Amino acid sequence: MSGPRVVVVGAGVVGAALADELATRGWDEVTVVDQGALPSPGGSSSHAPGLVFQTNASKAMSELARHTVEKLSALDLDGEPCYLPVGGLEVATTDDRLTELHRRHGWATSWGLDARVLPPAECLELYPLLDPDRVLGGLYLPTDGVAKAVRAVVAQLRRAQARGVRVLENHEVLDVLTAGGRVTGVRTDRGDVPADVVVCCAGIWGPRVAGMVGMDLPLTPLAHQLAWTSPVPAMAGLDTEISRPIVRHQGADLYFRDRFDQVGIGFYGHRPMPVGVEEIGRPSRPVAGPMPSVLPFTPRDFEPAWALSRELLPALGEAEVAEAFNGLFSFTTDDFPLLGPSRDVEGFWVAEAVWVTHSAGVGRAMAEWLVEGRTTVDLHECDVNRFESHHLAPDYVLARGKQNFVEVYDVKHPLQPMEDPRPLRTSPFHPRQVALGAEFLEFNGWERPQWYAANEPLLAGRDVPAVDGWAARHWSPIAAAEAQVTRERVAMYDMTALKHLEVSGPGATAFLQRVCTGNVDKSVGSVTYCLLLHEDGGIHSDVTVARLAADTYQVGANGPLDEDRLARLARLPPGDGSGAPVTVRDVTPGYCCVGLWGPRARDVLQPLTTTDVSNEAFGYFRAKQLYVGNVPVTALRLSYVGELGWELYTTADLGLKLWDTLWAAGQEHGVIAGGRAAFNGLRLEKGYRSFGVDMTFEHDPWEAGLGFAVRLQKESFVGRDAVVARREAVQRRLTCLTLPRDAGTGLDGVVLGKEPVYDGDRCVGYVTSASYGYTIGTGIAYAWLPAELAEPGQELRVGWFDRRLRAVVTAEPLVDPEMKRLRS
Ligand SMILES: Cc1cc2nc3c(=O)[nH]c(=O)nc-3n(C[C@H](O)[C@H](O)[C@H](O)COP(=O)(O)OP(=O)(O)OC[C@H]3O[C@@H](n4cnc5c(N)ncnc54)[C@H](O)[C@@H]3O)c2cc1C
Repeated sequence: MSGPRVVVVGAGVVGAALADELATRGWDEVTVVDQGALPSPGGSSSHAPGLVFQTNASKAMSELARHTVEKLSALDLDGEPCYLPVGGLEVATTDDRLTELHRRHGWATSWGLDARVLPPAECLELYPLLDPDRVLGGLYLPTDGVAKAVRAVVAQLRRAQARGVRVLENHEVLDVLTAGGRVTGVRTDRGDVPADVVVCCAGIWGPRVAGMVGMDLPLTPLAHQLAWTSPVPAMAGLDTEISRPIVRHQGADLYFRDRFDQVGIGFYGHRPMPVGVEEIGRPSRPVAGPMPSVLPFTPRDFEPAWALSRELLPALGEAEVAEAFNGLFSFTTDDFPLLGPSRDVEGFWVAEAVWVTHSAGVGRAMAEWLVEGRTTVDLHECDVNRFESHHLAPDYVLARGKQNFVEVYDVKHPLQPMEDPRPLRTSPFHPRQVALGAEFLEFNGWERPQWYAANEPLLAGRDVPAVDGWAARHWSPIAAAEAQVTRERVAMYDMTALKHLEVSGPGATAFLQRVCTGNVDKSVGSVTYCLLLHEDGGIHSDVTVARLAADTYQVGANGPLDEDRLARLARLPPGDGSGAPVTVRDVTPGYCCVGLWGPRARDVLQPLTTTDVSNEAFGYFRAKQLYVGNVPVTALRLSYVGELGWELYTTADLGLKLWDTLWAAGQEHGVIAGGRAAFNGLRLEKGYRSFGVDMTFEHDPWEAGLGFAVRLQKESFVGRDAVVARREAVQRRLTCLTLPRDAGTGLDGVVLGKEPVYDGDRCVGYVTSASYGYTIGTGIAYAWLPAELAEPGQELRVGWFDRRLRAVVTAEPLVDPEMKRLRS
């Protein structure tokens, strides 16, 4: 026997995959508990049609799907395959959808999947039931297919059982037992099962099980309609379960799969039908229906689906709906699963809101995380601790779950903001921003100005990029003027949404020295840019650490996962024997911040304060407490846009006063308000990386061009040994590309991010961040590339829908490499 005692709650496709992966890694004191009877205990896996489309905007989600395909392809149950690799075909019947298929083709290619956009005739060859007059093209992935979920459950559980895992069916978990803040087991209706680790893989019942330890799980069970036709005459004679591709018609919210001579039709176009977790049946409290997750069919909701299906597949006109039901599965507030450990209860983990498509990938990732403490796939998007507190409000969870059901197949621009509930979080500057005609986008609940209509007159006589289509959505040429004025004069940027944490207490210095790659034990007033690493040397985050007092630091961070990581590390014994207490606190909501940046920033600030803000008295990367007029401010001399200036923090109550004071003083210097669109272009001109977009857990500092933030003179910090070892092994690099104007179209090379990068016809990498460089007059894209192709001058191509744009590797930063503007 080895490994801790683990209870996996739920023998669906996720719990089974996890049990198998844990056993494979030598953890065999594992018990899988399910309230239902195997092989179909009654959850979503018991009746899922199992379509696996691997293409996803998220690299991680595509990788989880690809692993599912690989694993299930190699798995059988008594000789019967667990995966049927029939291919996947997503069809377009409008020009917009065809354009979207090209974008999706780009994602698939970026993430290493073999995908092709096919003309109508080839789509029809693959799936002859399609109406030749409607289909304009299709995205085809030969490795997509059908996962046999029930078979996969049994096959994985059997394999796990052979390695010692116990499976207890017909055992309902009634409570999760805890003592001293950690789990000790589960109480079932047939007795207790002791455990050191409990993993909630309870699907739609997840909130109920997580609630047993007081954890709010932002998940909504929603019904989704699935129907099977009667035999279709045109399919007569098809004697294998399925031999032709699965089909998606996302423009009509539909998907299809064959089953011998019948067609299964899944529909997302009906009204959202959420179900409260306590309303879902379970063996101890049955409700009508063959399974707890199956609700009675509501034919009227299916009427549009049936009409649209017969339009795309006219042969269905000779058939009828033979079986149908409303099946329940989980939706989250941001479409990503909920994975990882509870923040509050040691040993309680969740693997929730996972599709069959991603199940084996998630099983592997969770097992890696539990056993090895790290995952091969970067899961920051899926981490259950990624949420802000308002994200857990029941109203929010329900509203977003319903909306995500409605939008599941919609075409979404990467900047497209959610519409409701809004506004949620507004900075104190909001009324002034509204008065300036701000166009707001939403980020983590915050309303952030993207540009300001009031700046339109600044456009006169300026060069702005020529863009159209997708590059022009959620964008305005005003951004160009705002960026240029920032470099010429001075601008105010609302930086309130930037998460900042207070790390304080007698142990604060030793703690930060232990967890950061930089040396933060410098004089009060010092600011240090450094990284938080994982134990394997991968980047967890990049942070800016300002020492405000001997035992008080302000840490500029990237999001809730940084707070979570620091709080967890703070709970661990320091190892230096000091045991001095340290507190990590998110202070963002009580504060606001103006980025005052541009060559005239000092001219604006100095008359407002008695503190000397000259370069000599207040140098670059220094912090001071000062007054701006009547407002006490923490000023950090930093700039994410690469200009002279300060981040000026004050408490929320004084925010409006700060804005007004700076605004009034700035008038004679031509101050403007600047939005995120300008900001993003400016930061890329300066080569500043953004965590989560440019680099993630899977990258190390050397590859990401952040080696300068790793202070190897420090004897120890989390991840040091691993990162040292990785230094000599760099094979890929985050690389700056410039995209010149296309002579043919006259359009500038502005892309969105996630596009494939080609060397000839070979995909060699993918774009992370992109923007136009408004002050250098060219498109910019950062991309992960093999090191040998990352040399300046290298000519490449970036996939942009059905085109390839010229791109040239260019030395970075593109603006002010001598740092004169920042340090002056
Ligand atoms: C109609 C329909 C069509 C779908 N089509 C697809 C598709 O084509 N492709 C795709 O990828 N996904 C599809 N899905 C989604 C997919 O089925 C689910 O996301 C997936 O099966 C969830 O697996 P799971 O293991 O997390 O949950 P489940 O399969 O629901 O398993 C959870 C298990 O936990 C057990 N449990 C819960 N509470 C307790 C407790 N207190 N004590 C003991 N046991 C408990 C339950 O009995 C259940 O067996 C579809 C879903 C539906 C409903």
